[in-house]
Amino acid sequence: MPMIDLLLKGGRVLDPGTSVDALLDVAITGSRIAQIGPEIDPSGARQVLDVSGNIITPGMIDLHTHVAGGLRKIVDEETAVPADLAGVHAGVTTIVDAGSCGAYNIGGLVNFVLPEAATRVYIFLNAGVLGASGSMGGGQKPEITNISDIDIPASIRAIESSPHIRGVKVRLVSPAVREMGVDLPRKAKEIAATAGVPLMVHIGDIHEDHPAAIEVTRLLLSEILTRGDIITHATSHRVGALLSDPSLLYEAQQARERGVWFDGGVGRSNFSFLSARDVIESGFMPDSISSDATAAGRSGLVHSLTECMGKFLAVGLSVEQVVGLVTSGPARILGESDKIGGLREGSEADVSVLEVIEGDWLFRDITGATASSSIAIVPTHTVRAGSLIPLSRGPRPWGWAPESR
Ligand SMILES: [Zn+2]
Repeated sequence: MPMIDLLLKGGRVLDPGTSVDALLDVAITGSRIAQIGPEIDPSGARQVLDVSGNIITPGMIDLHTHVAGGLRKIVDEETAVPADLAGVHAGVTTIVDAGSCGAYNIGGLVNFVLPEAATRVYIFLNAGVLGASGSMGGGQKPEITNISDIDIPASIRAIESSPHIRGVKVRLVSPAVREMGVDLPRKAKEIAATAGVPLMVHIGDIHEDHPAAIEVTRLLLSEILTRGDIITHATSHRVGALLSDPSLLYEAQQARERGVWFDGGVGRSNFSFLSARDVIESGFMPDSISSDATAAGRSGLVHSLTECMGKFLAVGLSVEQVVGLVTSGPARILGESDKIGGLREGSEADVSVLEVIEGDWLFRDITGATASSSIAIVPTHTVRAGSLIPLSRGPRPWGWAPESR
């Protein structure tokens, strides 16, 4: 047994990907998990962290964030958060930046944000050349308004230039979805397919709720998406999302059978308790939960990945389910199950320590609806590649807990 650098002692190890749920200790040596087992001898450990009463999970993965922090405004930034604020300082060890930047401004994210981040960051390149960071803002102008905002060769070159770029992101929002129709996701798929990466599609026309979005989503699901592609905002209530008058689109089930993934991205505008219940009660469980973290979302409605997990607890999911949806679920979607999203001896030590807190918790959605739960989840510690990293103070004035009723 090599020297133990960090011993997490007395916690409940919950790794839904391997069905482990037991009182076990986790010993870390260097950047790797050395041993997982009961009652590991602490005498040789450099540091022992008593985590009794807490849950030890694989390092959480947030599949949809916006972390091009520092690349936009100096003050009053509403779109991008710093990577570690959504990542390791929030209990999350891996994040995906989902379309903050496009082919013409991705350099800042790759060259300056990523090297500064302790969090593991993967990027999905926006199909719009300037991405959400280039063209959104106070007026919420979308990154693609017409075909001239897409440069297929430049986008493919960008993807081929960086191993951090793992996919393409496109948002089916107006005016582009109304004006371009199905051409919008087709162009994005052309970039992804040529570069050999998956396409992530935001569904739900948050700008106009235009009825044209419904037909585009049907065609997207039935004709465009292929195995490994991802729908985000699977539990959205907006026009063009999975619910239509008001049942689940049958094309969603067909797409799932073809190997398309469905992410329950929360965000400020893309989640309602009613639609989440409807989608899940249709037997259509999301494959992951993500926050769609932005600076504005951190202070309103989204708050944190753990609070987004709480919203799913409030619609009836269990702690075991929501932990799976931020660990093994997104790891599978990213094709990284052998590397992240699980706790294995010998693998890189990415670990989240969480606490299930009891109370009378209240959660809110964009429609003004609320939902309550007697339990919520808060992060208590992050271990990233073996290093114990402190959390931030949390998104709320009082820390990480949700609102109390
Ligand atoms: Zn987003």
